[in-house]
Amino acid sequence: MEHLAILRDLQATLDYLRTIERDLSALPPDLAVLDTRLKAIEKQAAEKTKSLDSTRIHIQMKAKELAQAEKDEERARTAVKATSQKVHYAAAIRDMDEKERQKAAIARPLKALETEAHALEQALEALEAERATLKAKFDELHTVFLEEHANQVEGRKQLRTKQAELESKLPPREVTRFHRLAGARQGRVVVPVENGACTGCHVKLRGPFLFQLKEAKDAVACESCQRILFLP
Ligand SMILES: [Zn+2]
Repeated sequence: MEHLAILRDLQATLDYLRTIERDLSALPPDLAVLDTRLKAIEKQAAEKTKSLDSTRIHIQMKAKELAQAEKDEERARTAVKATSQKVHYAAAIRDMDEKERQKAAIARPLKALETEAHALEQALEALEAERATLKAKFDELHTVFLEEHANQVEGRKQLRTKQAELESKLPPREVTRFHRLAGARQGRVVVPVENGACTGCHVKLRGPFLFQLKEAKDAVACESCQRILFLP
């Protein structure tokens, strides 16, 4: 098969595939509701996981600060015990009070962070349980849905095989280019010329270019949109 014929066949194959994918992704209402809910849960879980990660980082930082504050407090307490002179004793007591106050100032927000982390962990567990239940229900109904659409499922399988066969006959560079163009041009890569114009971008083709296209044995790209042209 010549190059252009393969490309045209590939375009037709992908067009059929797209139609089938559309049918198979058009879920009935009960499945669509489950699908929407599942996606919402996954989004919530991702957000909560992110919050939990950042809370844990804060907890680590605060825990280090607390360990240091505890050491400082311990040192101040030892200093109080070791002081015998009255004038130094008062200063040592003040220092110890200050260190206790500093420790408490770190311990309070740390406790709050730990409570927050615990609440996030519980919320995540609840979300995961709900997700698992809904996913099981979704899978059960989806299996039924796919059984009802057995023809499309089989068609999709065959078309994917055909796509792979056609692509294997093209240089990998061509295949990559084809899919990149398909992404940028709403899936329409190979288009016919009608009334001397590209039916992809509707730009009138230059006379010499049209002549070149008629003579060409291989694929020729539209000069304005880069789609592959053929004369019907
Ligand atoms: Zn064009």
